[in-house]
Amino acid sequence: MTVFEPAREIPVRASVDILVVGGGPSGVMAAYAAARKGNHKVMLLESRGFLGGNLTIGLPILAFLGPKGNQVIKGEPQKFIDRLRERGAATDHYPCKLHKSFTMVDAEEVKNVCADMMEEVGVEVLMYVFCCGVLKEGEQVKGVIIESKCGREAILAKTVIDCTGDGDVAFRAGVECHKGDADGGMQPPTLMYQLRGVDVQALRDAIVQRPEVFDMDNMPHSQFTRRHFITVGLRGMIDKAREAGLDIPVNRTILITGLKPDEIWVNMTRVSGTDSTEPSSYTHCEITAHRQIKVINEYLRRFVPGFENAHLEIVSPFTGIRESRVIVGKYVLTAEDIVAMKKFDDAVVVAGYPVDIHHSKGGDCTMIFTEDAYDIPYRVLVPEKVEGLLVAGRCSSMNHEAMAGTRVMSTCMALGEAAGSAARVALEEGVLPSAVDVSKVRADLLENGAYLG
Ligand SMILES: Cc1cc2nc3c(=O)[nH]c(=O)nc-3n(C[C@H](O)[C@H](O)[C@H](O)COP(=O)(O)OP(=O)(O)OC[C@H]3O[C@@H](n4cnc5c(N)ncnc54)[C@H](O)[C@@H]3O)c2cc1C
Repeated sequence: MTVFEPAREIPVRASVDILVVGGGPSGVMAAYAAARKGNHKVMLLESRGFLGGNLTIGLPILAFLGPKGNQVIKGEPQKFIDRLRERGAATDHYPCKLHKSFTMVDAEEVKNVCADMMEEVGVEVLMYVFCCGVLKEGEQVKGVIIESKCGREAILAKTVIDCTGDGDVAFRAGVECHKGDADGGMQPPTLMYQLRGVDVQALRDAIVQRPEVFDMDNMPHSQFTRRHFITVGLRGMIDKAREAGLDIPVNRTILITGLKPDEIWVNMTRVSGTDSTEPSSYTHCEITAHRQIKVINEYLRRFVPGFENAHLEIVSPFTGIRESRVIVGKYVLTAEDIVAMKKFDDAVVVAGYPVDIHHSKGGDCTMIFTEDAYDIPYRVLVPEKVEGLLVAGRCSSMNHEAMAGTRVMSTCMALGEAAGSAARVALEEGVLPSAVDVSKVRADLLENGAYLG
């Protein structure tokens, strides 16, 4: 059944040069890069009451370093880490055989640093607004429609950058979008949470001293002698817990040390079959993931050393979405491109994270490693047909397997910086983003310290 929504006039709240929708890792970087020369009016829209997106849910940032150990994500993402480090709110980039590197950040300081960065370059931030429509003239985007407690309003923009993770703007603008693998299967979401009171030394000792019992996927046990580590393994313990009747939704125990000595972030809930673009599906996911926390905690207490006295401290504000829509852009990056480390003349990001597909069903994961870092071309940010729009972050133009590599936050930040830079350079040149001279975008990124191989 459908009903007719009458057409109506709506107020124009603002008219800007560059409008970024979504204030996660890609959006914050896009807005900053768009505004950093001070010659354009830039606005950032965010549906939640804080900036940072998935940077605020207790995840480590993976793969600032590439497979060969050199730093591949630099530029504005690295400056963001430097700002956090000045506040004691980010660790070093720790090399890791599985993840290439990981960097823990403090979620609360992430929110503050993102807000400070926007203020510093004069980006107008508007929170608690949901982008629910697009204004177009022909095939060119001219702005968006937002919905808030005020009702509906329009924001006009010369260029819009979609950093919503779900491709909300692109989808509404009629850009062709895809979800998941050939059967529509998407990587499942996870609700992150933090435990305190963990005896991290006991966990470390168990892994280092009894590797045959406390098995790790692909990671040498020597990696666990340092202060910070991520466990991915303990498959045998999960088997035992299942034999004891515990319904564990994943096959691997993923635990991340936090900034405080007794803090562990748990990445083990998962709700297969969720589609975050369908609210009833996402609702079921949230409720189920919250219920899973209890059983996972029982597993940790009974089967994993160090958790005997642990208590639940924080449940992240929302269940994180690994995968939903991706757009079809001027180029669709594939896993074959990544594995072949294909070179692109219009590379705007060089990334190092392997293809890491959390299976849509069954609780396991496939990882495909590359020998070295790989190029990501500018064309993945540019929709195939619709003009005036760039799409950065996990919804850029990649197939299911490729986005399983490019989705990590270091890469998403770099994609965001590239989109913001391209939008600014295109306006300076008086051309649409699809026609920008990419060598000028690359020069702009290099000037800001990016690594492009
Ligand atoms: C459980 C889980 C574990 C992961 N593990 C890691 C890890 O260990 N390390 C790592 O580096 N990466 C990890 N990732 C991947 C990474 O977190 C994401 O792929 C990345 O954050 C995507 O960045 P983004 O900017 O594209 O989107 P997001 O981080 O999702 O940000 C999108 C922002 O847009 C806002 N928004 C969305 N729609 C609208 C709208 N219509 N209007 C206004 N605002 C809107 C959202 O509120 C949000 O703030 C993980 C992801 C998940 C879910």
